[in-house]
Amino acid sequence: MENKKPIVKEYTNGEVTVVWQPHMCTHSKKCWKELLPVFDPRRKPWVDMDAANSDRIAAQVHRCPSKALSIKA
Ligand code: SF4
Repeated sequence: MENKKPIVKEYTNGEVTVVWQPHMCTHSKKCWKELLPVFDPRRKPWVDMDAANSDRIAAQVHRCPSKALSIKA
């Protein structure tokens, strides 16, 4: 079988860029339970970079236990 590249998505507000690697998510629900306006799994796209300021988004991303969410360096 062919090796498929995992999906990697990026969301930016021009100041910070959130990287989303769904294959790494362990469904801790931390992101959307703690910051639903930004991380809403019922919405498409599910990340709204305009729903909080950059510091708040980055703080939430750093709480993702699986590193499925990260900040682009
Ligand atoms: S915080 Fe991270 S591991 Fe938890 S649901 Fe969100 S992306 Fe997945």
